[in-house]
This record gives sequence, structure tokens and C-alpha cells, in this order.
Amino acid sequence: MIDKTLFENMLPDELQTFMDFLKSILTDISSKSSTTTKLANRQKVNHCCPYCFSSYIVKDGHSKSGVQRYRCKDCKKRFNDATDTLCSNSKLSYEVWLHFFECMIDKLSLRKTAVKLNINKNTTFAMRHKVLNALKIFREKIVLSGKIQADELYKSINLKGTRPKNMPRFSKPRQTKGGSKRGISDHQVCIASATDEWDNIYFEIVGVGPITTEMIEKTFSTVIKPGSTLITDCKSSYEKFAYNHNLKLQQVKSGTYQNLAGYNLAEINGLHSNVENFLQSFVGVSTKHLQGYLDWFSYQKYLTYTVELLKQPQVMMNYVIGQIASINIADIYSKDFPVDICDAYSHYHFSPSTDI
Ligand SMILES: [Zn+2]
Repeated sequence: MIDKTLFENMLPDELQTFMDFLKSILTDISSKSSTTTKLANRQKVNHCCPYCFSSYIVKDGHSKSGVQRYRCKDCKKRFNDATDTLCSNSKLSYEVWLHFFECMIDKLSLRKTAVKLNINKNTTFAMRHKVLNALKIFREKIVLSGKIQADELYKSINLKGTRPKNMPRFSKPRQTKGGSKRGISDHQVCIASATDEWDNIYFEIVGVGPITTEMIEKTFSTVIKPGSTLITDCKSSYEKFAYNHNLKLQQVKSGTYQNLAGYNLAEINGLHSNVENFLQSFVGVSTKHLQGYLDWFSYQKYLTYTVELLKQPQVMMNYVIGQIASINIADIYSKDFPVDICDAYSHYHFSPSTDI
């Protein structure tokens, strides 16, 4: 903390001169890309080699812009604090990144973000997906405990951004409703969702079609703390899971607000409508990027619970920049679908495309 007594004897004009001086230093430091690297240094929890994660690292001089370099004594590779983080190889200044996070908090479109930051729209696309890639780490660390409301959400498969050669090809459905045991929701992505009494939120794509015990097991077995109370609707798929994991199960019949013990699903239902509104701001999120947007929603919700609005962009930037989670552009574009599209369309005639 700054000692107030240092300034108490200063006159207003002297203070103003001092503030102008500080402001010019702030502008200078914010305009450098090396500042993001310094921020990464401060935010990192583990200072280790980003390639082999060895902590046997030594300082290895500075770059022209004054960034500290390191060398790994194990794998011999050289790196700096930004390597494999969000700002790895980024020429953008600290200030541009911070404005970018402001645009994310405001849920601005990529086009509007590009105009506001005076950068290329493809660059904003890459920036957004690098952020989403880092936010998955936030989800991976969530543990739900206490009273947990769980449910599912279904979204239609959206093939936006898929190259023609990777598209599933299908003609008319062989069997329509009635004859098939596969229902309409087989064309929908199933998202398992849960929130606990501490406002932790968890959304994960688990497959296509109605949720099964296997999907619940795969998703929640490491997320939900044994001994918790699980509150769900009356689907039987939750019963076995609750039994296997020593959870107290409270089920609420559909059409009723609460069960006899007073448990309800109001929180998770509220989150479902929040997430629907959130996704609608982006006009058709591709299924292959949907998990990233769910992670963004969950992280932003966490921010609204814990940080005042004006500080949210800075807190989000500090968090994201401290994560070792780089992804290159080619990998963003060629990202796999989180579900098997061929499986989702399996009761259509399927023939691999011969197009380019
Ligand atoms: Zn190494």
C-alpha cells in the first residue's frame, strides 16, 4: 500500500504535476506488448517450463524489449513468461488486450470489437477463441458441493464454420417420428448443467440425445463431491449415479415447484434462461465452439457474483493471462466437434462427401 503521509504536505499544483507524470508513465507502459508478458509473470501460479513443465529453469537474459527470458535445464528449450499463454507471440499492447476484455464483458460482436479496437476481424476471432480456450481451465477446476441442482439443456446442432468437405451428407430421413425409437432430440446436443449452494456453475456438452446414466457418470463423477445433496427432476438416470457416489437425491416432479421436502430447481432453471439469452447475443454459435461459449458464460457469471462490473475486464484478463493454454489459429478453425455428428445423423442416409 502507498503511504498517504508522503503526499500530505504537497500542494494541489504539485500533486497535479505528479499525477500528470504518473499518467504519462501509465500510457507508456500500457502501450507496450511486453507489459502483457510482465502481467503473465505476476499471474502465473507455477513458474515452470511451458513445454515439459519442469521447474528446473534458469534466467537466460532479456529480449530487446526488456522481457526476461528463461531456459529449461531439462528440455533445454527457451521461453519467456508469455510463451503458451494467451499473449504468446502477440504484438498487441496491454491496452488493446484490456479493451478487448471490456468488449467481451459487454458481449460485443467480433465485428463491433474489431471496429472499436481498430484491428482486423480475424484477429478478434483468434483473440476470442484463445480466451475461451483458457477459460476451460476454470471449468476443469470446479467442484460442486452442498445442495446441488442439476438438469440438462438441449441445443440444435449448428454446423456453422464447418468446411463443406467435413459436412455430414444426408438425404431424406429413412424413418420419421413414430417409427423410430430415436427421438428428435437425437439431433440435439445435450448439455449437462449444475449449480451448487455456493453459486458454482458447471455446464458441459455430454453427447447427443437424451441424457443417460453413462453421460452423467462421465461428467459429474469428478465434479460433484460425495456426500452432497443432488436435486434433479424425476429422470431415473440420476438415481444410479446418486447411489454410486453416495449422494442424497431429491427429485422434483415436473410441473411442480418443489418436492415434499421443499427442494426446487429454480436456480438451475434461471441459469438455463440466462445461458439461452447469452448465446442468443451471438447469432448462432457453432456446435464446435459451443463449449467455449458455455465456459465464457459460466466464468462471466462467476465474475458478476464476485467482482463489481467496472473491474471485471481487468480481473478476467489477469486470470486468463496467467493460464498456460495456448492454441494456434489453425487448431481453432479445425476444432473437432464435441459430439459425433455422424452419430447424430445416423438414421439419415449418410454418404461421405466427394466435394472438395
Ligand atoms: Zn522444459
